[in-house]
Amino acid sequence: MRQSGILQGVSDARVGPVHRARLTSCGRLWVPRAPLLRHRSRGACDCYASRVIIVKMEALLSDISNCSLCSERFSNTATSHAPRPVFQYAAGARILIAGQAPGARVHESGRPFTDPSGDRLRDWMGVGQSTFYDAGKIAIFPMAFCFPGYNAKGADLPPPPICARTWRARVMEALGDVPLTLLVGGYAQKWHLKTRASVTDTVAGWRDTAPQVFPLPHPSWRNTAWLKKNPWFEAELLPVLRARVQEVLK
Ligand code: SF4
Repeated sequence: MRQSGILQGVSDARVGPVHRARLTSCGRLWVPRAPLLRHRSRGACDCYASRVIIVKMEALLSDISNCSLCSERFSNTATSHAPRPVFQYAAGARILIAGQAPGARVHESGRPFTDPSGDRLRDWMGVGQSTFYDAGKIAIFPMAFCFPGYNAKGADLPPPPICARTWRARVMEALGDVPLTLLVGGYAQKWHLKTRASVTDTVAGWRDTAPQVFPLPHPSWRNTAWLKKNPWFEAELLPVLRARVQEVLK
């Protein structure tokens, strides 16, 4: 079995509180009136229902790791590569990073955000590599799990829609509640927020969904001009985001 994600067994699983507001799989903010499951703390949890959820996620991620739905599509690109799903997860993650799709470097490494975009995203979040790659703290599920290949201009192709259609709602349901979700780029924002607004408008409206959800532009170097054009992003949004990251990781 190919396995790019980090799966922890039930015995050492850490399950966080499940009764906080979150984005549901249909993209709405959900604030439960009464928690269905009660967990004792952020520490070890022996709740049967939680174990069922964890086992369900492990089975789902195993299926994704072996997915080959896009084999033909990828073999027809210039790189003619095979599917290699890349994600990061362990039970108890406090932050979800909903990205776009792995780039070529991530396809090679098998680890999310091992590229300059990752450096910029970690800077935006105010975390180092050790925290970023702690799957028990941060889950990373892009809109498509595999590198889509390049277009004729040498830019990454968009994430294949079949990936989100096939897997995303099930992954979000199995993931459950996380206190902080980062929607990185337009594809994640459109799916999770059910919006047709531009990335600029969606990110500018970040106060509508913070502190549970922060829409962000893609941290690619291609967006450096966008960052210069929108200085409020670094001056206003990032300090609040960094404080929130520290708060949920306490
Ligand atoms: S991008 Fe998604 S649907 Fe396509 S092969 Fe990879 S995991 Fe499967």
